[in-house]
Amino acid sequence: MPVFEYAPAPESRAIANLKDHYKPFVNGEFVDGSGEPLKTINPATEEVLAEVGTASKSDVDTAVKAARKAYTGVWSKMPGTERAKYLFRIARLIQERSRELAVLESLDNGKPIKESRDSDVPTAAAHFFYHAGWADKLEYAGYGPNPQPLGVAGQIIPWNFPLLMLAWKIAPALATGNTVVLKPAETTPLTALVFAEICQQAELPPGVVNILPGAGDIGASIVEHADIDKIAFTGSTEVGKAIQREVAGTAKKLTLELGGKAANIVFEDAPLDQAIEGIVNGIFFNQGHVCCAGSRLMVQESIAEEVLEKLRYRVSTLRIGDPLDKNTDIGAINSAEQLAKIQGLVEAGDAEGAQRWTSPCPVPDRGFFFAPTVFANVHQSMRIAREEIFGPVLSVLTFRTPDEAVTKANNTPYGLSAGIWTEKGSRILWMANQLRAGVVWANTFNRFDPAAPFGGYQESGFGREGGRTGLEAYLDV
Ligand code: NDP
Repeated sequence: MPVFEYAPAPESRAIANLKDHYKPFVNGEFVDGSGEPLKTINPATEEVLAEVGTASKSDVDTAVKAARKAYTGVWSKMPGTERAKYLFRIARLIQERSRELAVLESLDNGKPIKESRDSDVPTAAAHFFYHAGWADKLEYAGYGPNPQPLGVAGQIIPWNFPLLMLAWKIAPALATGNTVVLKPAETTPLTALVFAEICQQAELPPGVVNILPGAGDIGASIVEHADIDKIAFTGSTEVGKAIQREVAGTAKKLTLELGGKAANIVFEDAPLDQAIEGIVNGIFFNQGHVCCAGSRLMVQESIAEEVLEKLRYRVSTLRIGDPLDKNTDIGAINSAEQLAKIQGLVEAGDAEGAQRWTSPCPVPDRGFFFAPTVFANVHQSMRIAREEIFGPVLSVLTFRTPDEAVTKANNTPYGLSAGIWTEKGSRILWMANQLRAGVVWANTFNRFDPAAPFGGYQESGFGREGGRTGLEAYLDV
């Protein structure tokens, strides 16, 4: 039931400066990787965007050697004031090329341009600005008078926030004096390779940043490499566990940012219209491809019907379609595999007896799209309440008392984030103390700031990214 008619308002794809072929970036240069080239597609149209050269195991070795040489020869010796200048330059260049990066990200990932333009790219720049500020102040960070870097960091990132996850990884590593070998996800390598161009533009010394496109086996080769000092991984819990097993017994330091199944808890005294916006943002932002998504809505029983009614109305106004259209709210699912996973879990929800409502919005015929979906009458034992769907699908449960809300919210093997909606400040503080989640938002959701540490409990991983605490992961402390 759309309220307004919108004329198409597409951003120009020419801004992306799309090339036919992209290459791995090793020792300051784009090189022919010796892996099998991959084709990256636009998930909104299924067209091939570009061919991308990939790394092989021997390229991983070359990149680690380049990173080691840059670490010992240049980067670890450089005063923090000088390293900071490079980070500032990178941040400014991300800003200068922000439209190009935003359009390219939306083409390769499928996310709406308004999100890549207003959230991903500015927050990526903000991470470099923030960490540039730390580079010459590390002795005041609380890790001793002269904290030392670790060495070469191997970093593996997922497809849901390609440029932003790169920034979360690379900015603190460089600020603290480490060098980097990073693998972007197979389905979203393009903005990482434009970032490599930015490293060249910033005249970053060769080898400080190396970027190796490839599949999971290249990630595994980075993890296994004997001359890597630290592994930082964001992705699925399954792969995170495999990495932890591999790293066990070695001297490698490890941080894992894994999956989630966050409870977004709405009390009867909450400002409801504000809460509805927060619920929508919590689960439909980035098609629900968000590790901290508020995918389990928990509503106090007395307002459950009212919330569901308002929510269905609001969700029915979301526009799904062309990611490059400035009016699009929900873009494409990143891959056919992810779409199949979402469909499978939604079918499980039907089979287990949850009550499904799907937005009647028109869905494009081509590309990987999934209409926003809300399941009511969800029980804790159902798969849709327990497993990470990683798509635009919300599971709604109810509770009667704050204690019951806490018990149900904590009934998960994950523990990445949670949301609380209530007028009562005392209840916010009490709930936040009880919830086993790394981040708790109150009367808002999905707020990110480079100064705020982010990370999980239990199967959501360990270690923090961002803020002063995030520096620890890259220092020998
Ligand atoms: P993965 O965990 O497989 O991918 C994350 C990154 O790890 C990618 O770069 C991937 O490479 C790489 N990788 C894969 N296997 C290995 C390995 N054995 N060793 C080292 N690196 C490896 O996530 P998927 O993309 O397969 O998504 C599956 C599910 O994971 C999603 O449905 C979602 O539930 C969850 N997920 C959670 C994320 C989060 O932020 N918490 C992010 C992404 C997914 P490549 O992509 O090239 O295979």
